[in-house]
Amino acid sequence: MSADVSAPAAVPARAAGTVATLRRQVSDLHAELVRYQLVAWTAGNVSARVPGEDLMVIKPSGVSYDDLTPESMIVTDLHGRVVEGDLSPSSDTAAHAYVYRHMPEVGGVVHTHSTYAAAWAARAEPVPCVLTAMADEFGGDIPVGPFALIGDDPIGRGIVDTLTGHRSPAVLMQNHGVFSIGADARAAVKAAVMCEDVARTVHLARVLGPTVPIDPADIDRLYARYQNVYGQPAGSHEEDHA
Ligand SMILES: [Zn+2]
Repeated sequence: MSADVSAPAAVPARAAGTVATLRRQVSDLHAELVRYQLVAWTAGNVSARVPGEDLMVIKPSGVSYDDLTPESMIVTDLHGRVVEGDLSPSSDTAAHAYVYRHMPEVGGVVHTHSTYAAAWAARAEPVPCVLTAMADEFGGDIPVGPFALIGDDPIGRGIVDTLTGHRSPAVLMQNHGVFSIGADARAAVKAAVMCEDVARTVHLARVLGPTVPIDPADIDRLYARYQNVYGQPAGSHEEDHA
């Protein structure tokens, strides 16, 4: 953490084009949260790191998804201090910023309270890896992170501590909801969509009876195949699951 307590005065000129592109991407990706029914009211947010800068682009707080525009997105530094924007950033900004500070490989972060995933979080129960699509995407169970109150570093620390060294790009924060990460914001949104999808399917399976585990060696094979065969640069293709 820097000793400098003042936020940068402005987005550097060298990053202006990138920030403009990310404002549009992050704004558009919020529509995906609505389309996949991951959010109610304003409770979900997407952010993107500005590559090469200590900056990120994130949703403003309390604005209806229908009213989000590229111009209304907020640029903050990686301590959550506003650098560009007229509104307050999302109330989850501190958690996003903490993840970017501590996980340099992460370029996008998403937070939702999507229904089925949050139901697993309410029980503090990992979603067990009982579907091949889960092995592909998550490489195992979707883990549970600690209970933490909003608005300070504990949420960010819980995300980082849980996902560091873990294959899963999503964590169920206990009693709360999902945080997902990706190489870029779109990948993080995909992880949030897939997390809710498998949380729903495994929930339904559980209602009807016991689930059948997948041999860990097969999980490893599925994960390696999916990540290697389909692990192309983000946005270059659409992945097929085994
Ligand atoms: Zn939340």
